[in-house]
Amino acid sequence: MTEQHYVPPLEDMRFLLEEVFDLGGVFGRKPYQDVDIEVALAVLDQAGRFTAEVLGPINAEGDATGSRLVDGGVRTPPGFKDAYRRYCEAGWVGLDLPSQYGGQGLPLVIQAGVAEMVTGSCMAFSMLPLMGRAASRLLIGHADARLRDSVVPRLVSGQWTATICISEPQAGSDVGRITTRATPRDDGTWALTGTKIFITYGDHDLTPQIIHMVLARTPGAPAGTRGLSLFIVPKLGFSDDGTLGERNAAVVGRVEHKMGLKASPTCVLNLEGAQGFMVGGEGNGLKTMFDMVNVMRLETGIQGLAVGGAATAKALAYTAERFQGGAPGAAPVALIEHADVRRMLYTMRARVEAMRAMMFETALQLDLAVTAGTEADRVAAREQAQWLLPICKAFFTATGFEVANLAVQCFGGHGYVSDAGVEQYVRDLRVASIYEGTNGIQAFDLVVRKLINDDGRRFGEFVGRIRKDVDLMAQRDDLRGIRAAVVDGLDSIERVGAAYRALAPDRRRDAEAGAAAFLALAGRLASAWMWLRMAAVATGPSAVHRRKRELAAFYAAYLMPEVMALERQALPGTACVDGLDAGTLVDYV
Ligand SMILES: Cc1cc2nc3c(=O)[nH]c(=O)nc-3n(C[C@H](O)[C@H](O)[C@H](O)COP(=O)(O)OP(=O)(O)OC[C@H]3O[C@@H](n4cnc5c(N)ncnc54)[C@H](O)[C@@H]3O)c2cc1C
Repeated sequence: MTEQHYVPPLEDMRFLLEEVFDLGGVFGRKPYQDVDIEVALAVLDQAGRFTAEVLGPINAEGDATGSRLVDGGVRTPPGFKDAYRRYCEAGWVGLDLPSQYGGQGLPLVIQAGVAEMVTGSCMAFSMLPLMGRAASRLLIGHADARLRDSVVPRLVSGQWTATICISEPQAGSDVGRITTRATPRDDGTWALTGTKIFITYGDHDLTPQIIHMVLARTPGAPAGTRGLSLFIVPKLGFSDDGTLGERNAAVVGRVEHKMGLKASPTCVLNLEGAQGFMVGGEGNGLKTMFDMVNVMRLETGIQGLAVGGAATAKALAYTAERFQGGAPGAAPVALIEHADVRRMLYTMRARVEAMRAMMFETALQLDLAVTAGTEADRVAAREQAQWLLPICKAFFTATGFEVANLAVQCFGGHGYVSDAGVEQYVRDLRVASIYEGTNGIQAFDLVVRKLINDDGRRFGEFVGRIRKDVDLMAQRDDLRGIRAAVVDGLDSIERVGAAYRALAPDRRRDAEAGAAAFLALAGRLASAWMWLRMAAVATGPSAVHRRKRELAAFYAAYLMPEVMALERQALPGTACVDGLDAGTLVDYV
C-alpha cells in the first residue's frame, strides 16, 4: 500500500454543507445561479483527490530541500514545478474568481473548503496561488481597464504569480513607517526605490513573470498610512498582450533561513528604481491593499485549521496502530485506548471540527454579502464577516498550532524526530500567528476597532445571533450540556464587552492588555456555538452523528470551562502590565 501523506476531511465537509449550513441564500442566487450542493461536493471531492495525490507527496521533500537562491534566482524544491503546472491546468487558482477573467466563478464556501485541503496537504505550496488569487481580486476592483485586462487573466490562469510587499526592516506591524519611495516618471509610470523584506515567493522558478503588489510613498505624501500608495511592480516588463520584456530593477537580495515553511521562499526584494504602475489612486494604498489582505486573512486562519487538521488525521491513524501499555504478560494495547491519549485526540478533533464549521460560517457571510436579497442583509453579512475575520485569523492559527503540538505528543519520541512528518506541522504553522497582522494586532483590531469604536454594533449582532440559536433549542433535552456551555460563554463575553465599552478613554490600555484573552474567549464561544449547531442536527445512528454528539459534549464539559479563566483575564484591570517601567522590566541579570 502507498503511504497516505494527506487525508482530506471530505466526510466532515459533506456533513457541514449538507446538514448544518443553509446555503439557499447563496447557491442558485446571482452570480452563483448554476451552483448547487452537488456541484460543491463534486468540486470538494476533486480537490480531495488532487491534494492527496499531487500536493501531499511533495510536502516532506519540500521541507527537506527548501527553496534556495541559485545564481540570483530562487530554485524551488523537486516536484513543485510539476505540481504547480497540474494545479493551474486543473483551474484551481481562479476557483472563486469571475469567469470573465478565466475563473470558475464559484462561491467562497467552496473555495474555503478547497483552501483547507490545499493548505493541509502542503502549506508551503499553498501560499503561492493564494497571492495570485488575492491580487486578482484587488486588481479587478481597482486597476484601470488596460492593466486589469492584461494582468488579471494571467494571474487567474496561474501563468503569472503575485506577491504582497508591505514589510520593511523598520516597518513591520507599523505599516505607517514604510519608506520605499515612488517618484513619477515622464511616461506616467513610477520609479520605486527601497527594500522590502520577508516577501513570500518574492522570486521562484515556477513562472517567468511575478507581479509585486508594493506599498510605497509618493513625493510630499503625509507621514503615516495616509501617505501610502499602491503600485504593481512586475519582475519583467510586459505589453498589453502579455508579451514579456526586459528585466525590471526589482532584485532578490537573499532568501531567509527559517524555522519552517522552507519550501516557500521568504525574500528580501531590493527595488532599485523599478518601474511601477499606480493602482487605486494616490494616498489610497493601504485601503486598496486591504482588498488583498482580507482575502489572505481568512486563508491565513484556514492555515491553522488545515495544518491542525492534517496533524490530527496523522495522530488518529498512528495511535490506532501503535501498541504500548496494558497488563504485564498480556498483549499491549493500542495507544488510542489510553485515557490520556483519548483526551488529546478528543481535544484535537473537537477543536479542529469547530474551526472547520467556523470557516464555512465566515465564508458564508462573505458570500451573503454579495448574494443577499436586500442591501440591509448584504451589509449585515459583511459586518458579521468583518467581526469574524480577526477571530478566524488569530484563534485558528493559535489553536491549530496547539493541535499540531498535541499531535507530536501523541507520537511520543517518534513525533519529535522528522520521519513521521508531524514536527514539520508545528514548524510550518508557527509563522501563521505572526504574518498577515500578528495575532496581537488582530486582538487589538477586534477589541478596539470592532467593539469599542463600533459602539458594540458588530459585537451585538454576533451575540444576538448566538442567543437566537440558544433560544431556538431551549426545549431540546439532548442538547442541554452544550447549550448551557454556550450560555455561559455568552454571559462571559457580554460581561467583558460591557466592561470594555464602559471604559473611560484614558483606560483603553486595559482593553488592549485584555484583548488576546477576549479574542480567545470569542473563539471558544464561536466554537461552542458551532458544536451546538452540529449536535442539533446529529440525531441519527451513523458514526458521523454519534461522533458529533460525543465531541459536542466533550467540548462543553472539558474545553468550555477555560472560558471562566479567559473572562477573568480579559476583564479590564486584570492584566496589570504597567506597574514596572521599561527599564526595570528589561533588567535581566
Ligand atoms: C515567513 C514569513 C513570510 C512573510 N511574508 C510576508 C509577505 O509576503 N509580505 C510582507 O509584506 N510581509 C511578510 N511577512 C512579514 C510579516 O507580515 C511581519 O513579520 C509581521 O507583520 C510582523 O512584523 P515584524 O516581524 O516587524 O514584528 P513587529 O512589528 O516588530 O512585532 C513584534 C511583536 O510586537 C508586537 N507589536 C508590534 N506593534 C504592536 C502594537 N502597536 N501594539 C501591540 N503589539 C505590537 C507584535 O504583535 C509582535 O508580537 C512575512 C514574515 C514571515 C516570517
